[in-house]
Amino acid sequence: MRTLIRNGRAALDGRIEAADVLVEDGLIAAVGQLAEATADRTLDAAGCYVLPGFMDFHTHVDDQIGRFYLADTYESGTRVALQNGITTLCTFVTQGPDESLPAAMARARAKAEGTSHCDVLWHLTPTSFEPADLRALETLLAAGYRTLKLYTTYKAAGIFASYERIGQLFGLLGPQGARFMIHCEDDEVIASVDPASLDLGRPFSHTRLRPEAAEVVAIQKVLALGRAHRAAVHVVHVSSLEGAEILVRGRAQGDVSFETCPQYLVLDEDWLARQDGHRWLCSPPLRSQREAFRELARAGGADIFATDHCAFRPEDKDDWDRRDLRTCANGMPGLGALPHVAWKLWEDDPDRAAAGLATHLSLNPARRAGLEARKGALKPGLDADLVVLDPAGPDRPLGSTLVPAHEPYPGFSSRLNFRHVLLRGEPRVRDSRLLDPLQPHGALLQPAATSLSFT
Ligand SMILES: [Zn+2]
Repeated sequence: MRTLIRNGRAALDGRIEAADVLVEDGLIAAVGQLAEATADRTLDAAGCYVLPGFMDFHTHVDDQIGRFYLADTYESGTRVALQNGITTLCTFVTQGPDESLPAAMARARAKAEGTSHCDVLWHLTPTSFEPADLRALETLLAAGYRTLKLYTTYKAAGIFASYERIGQLFGLLGPQGARFMIHCEDDEVIASVDPASLDLGRPFSHTRLRPEAAEVVAIQKVLALGRAHRAAVHVVHVSSLEGAEILVRGRAQGDVSFETCPQYLVLDEDWLARQDGHRWLCSPPLRSQREAFRELARAGGADIFATDHCAFRPEDKDDWDRRDLRTCANGMPGLGALPHVAWKLWEDDPDRAAAGLATHLSLNPARRAGLEARKGALKPGLDADLVVLDPAGPDRPLGSTLVPAHEPYPGFSSRLNFRHVLLRGEPRVRDSRLLDPLQPHGALLQPAATSLSFT
């Protein structure tokens, strides 16, 4: 089957140019002026940008988080993703107590198999580091898994790793191909805040319980360890201007990248001061100084925009005693908002915005995941994951998820319309709706090995 996408403006190596895209057998076959090309199927992209499929590098679905089970399954999470141009959803497999990581992966596979509408890539979150656990990690790295997530906080949840541990893992697993994703909030800085000095019935106190200084200190320590061990370090969900600036400088001294999230770009800590401010609780918390933070992102300072999507049912999010905000479900959805919020950074210059999405939602996450030989750009030989994006569609409210959950972006709207989304060459979305909602077509990806197809 040959498919030709004509008349669009395509993102090529950071530039936007008039170009046709030819797809054959699920792969991109040619990009450029293809007036002579013939195809079985032609899609008109007049007035649209043609971009590589997006990747959300950081999401949580179908998992237990503290007291609550997340509202989004693989099915619903990948549905809202694909409708919004996200053709690869990255999510986490977290080793449970008394469980091996391979057993956790088998558990996740049972949930994802046959239910995922877009491709799925797992980041692995090891939580136990006995000799057998380390051997399992080495086996998984040899099998092609690349991205490991570690936390500098959350001791009570059993997922904390000390700096000493992080350094050991950098030294042991880095040379075997591991890339590290680190949640940077220093646990000692957080422990030094006296909760008795705060009114924990006010969600705004979250900003004081988990201060910017905790993020900054953890980033400094993790970067120093990364330099010492020459490890590839990606810092997740950076919220503070100071932390982001340290990371921008840190790139000169090692393999360093970072992501920030829609909520840190367009929401600020004032949302936590509302009567229902607990609905905007996430960690790290929303911050002040957003204009300067946005400016850094506009200038290309953040490598990746990802959501940290973590949707809770409304009744779960509202289930707290109004006395201690630490009992509140921690996280917010964002999948359906991601490309729309990223676009807003440059909306006065649509070509710049389209190129920005291609860089920060496609190319950079694909590289960080080790998927650049298969995804992330409009190049012959890569998977034909394609977005035909109309920037001037009807104005619509943002919908971060399709399941019942509090919407973090009330009053925000977007004119982006996903005229077509192709997953490995097949059109799966027309005008921001799935063509075949009852038939998931996603595959499970392993970066350095062959994919294991679900379908
Ligand atoms: Zn997360």
